[in-house]
Amino acid sequence: MALQRVCLVHYHEIGLKGKNRAHFEKQLVTNIKAVLGDAPIARIQRISGRICLFEDVEATYEQSCELVDLVAGIPGVARVSCGYRCEQDLEVMYDTAIQALSDVPHFETFKVQARRNHTDFEIDSMQLNQLVGAALCRAFQDKKVLMKNPDVEVRVEVIQGHCYIYAHSVVGVGGLPVGTAGKVVSLMSSGIDSPVATWRIARRGAIPIGVHFSGRPETLDTSEFLVDDIAHVLERTGCFARLYIAPIGEYQRRIAEEAPASLRIVLYRRFMYRIAQRVAEFEGAKALVTGESLGQVASQTLDNILCTNAAVTLPVLRPLIGSDKVEIIEEAEAIGTFEISSQDAPDCCTLYMPRNPETHAKLPVVMKAEEGLPIDAWIDEVMDCLEVHDYRCPSYRPPKTVD
Ligand code: ATP
Ligand code: MG
Repeated sequence: MALQRVCLVHYHEIGLKGKNRAHFEKQLVTNIKAVLGDAPIARIQRISGRICLFEDVEATYEQSCELVDLVAGIPGVARVSCGYRCEQDLEVMYDTAIQALSDVPHFETFKVQARRNHTDFEIDSMQLNQLVGAALCRAFQDKKVLMKNPDVEVRVEVIQGHCYIYAHSVVGVGGLPVGTAGKVVSLMSSGIDSPVATWRIARRGAIPIGVHFSGRPETLDTSEFLVDDIAHVLERTGCFARLYIAPIGEYQRRIAEEAPASLRIVLYRRFMYRIAQRVAEFEGAKALVTGESLGQVASQTLDNILCTNAAVTLPVLRPLIGSDKVEIIEEAEAIGTFEISSQDAPDCCTLYMPRNPETHAKLPVVMKAEEGLPIDAWIDEVMDCLEVHDYRCPSYRPPKTVD
């Protein structure tokens, strides 16, 4: 009979969440199911601090490894392993361990690491290490046992009446399942930083709803397509729910015509924050998120951050505020958004840029510059022509009042 292939999903932080634990586990299972879509999985079961994905009988080792890589990117996953489930019978366990190790394409050294979670099995971990180790040595006589840094660790876990044996395991992204922390509205340009900020906040359990400000009709819509591409990348691991596109080129032109040139960037930002807050109110989101990093560009000085923040009452989360650009780039590469973000696209930020932007704006001066502008009416107009794109995020519930 073919052995039962399984993927074991390990999580740790969830284990610390006391009473919320069941809720967190349930959300993680839902998120994994949604991400896996039509992958060859027969069923999913929670077992003692792990989630077990039972693969279809015809699944191959390569398919299992692909599954492992996909699941490792889902927030809340600390580690994913693939191997087999078998009976708690020593002979069967030996054969299963041999099969798990035979799956691994290239290795010279290995060791066995056994763990017994339930003492209803009479053989303890130390004995299991020796017994399974000896069986593998007999089967792989040209390979060596190495206790420190072997090429492969064969794990043997005795849990709740069964035994799980695997030789392939990767570290997951950690964090908490998306949907356990409520909604946020993330201001998403097509640049490098805001997708990383969005990803970081999703990794802590928030459901990100993006707002992208395009310079249309004064610019092309290229940036809108790039942000949609970025959203699709984040969607792969369930980290993006919905994107609102707000064309604000016309209002930027009006601001450029009527306000002092040096304050334009701060005024655009205040305008964007206000619209994002309106979207947040509509969606029931409890915070805004930006990709700002202190001092990175002119608009990201403390003075300018103070002036933009003052336009809204919701907390503005800035997951990248203390990160260097090189760190952000590395993370963008890891999550798969860097290449998209590196493409050139005129968005509302490149539109009507002043020659000498104010780097230390003063709030009273900024408010004075806004006095004559019909900002609230403009915001109403923008809210009336928002465009919406939806993505697959199982914990997301759209607002009830959508027409
Ligand atoms: P990014 O790489 O995210 O574009 P940046 O280094 O270019 O950031 P800024 O242009 O100053 O920095 O933008 C700071 C933040 O303001 C962005 O991270 C994003 O959260 C928000 N933002 C800027 N432009 C837009 C836009 N066109 N639409 C939505 N949000 C924007
Ligand atoms: Mg930018």
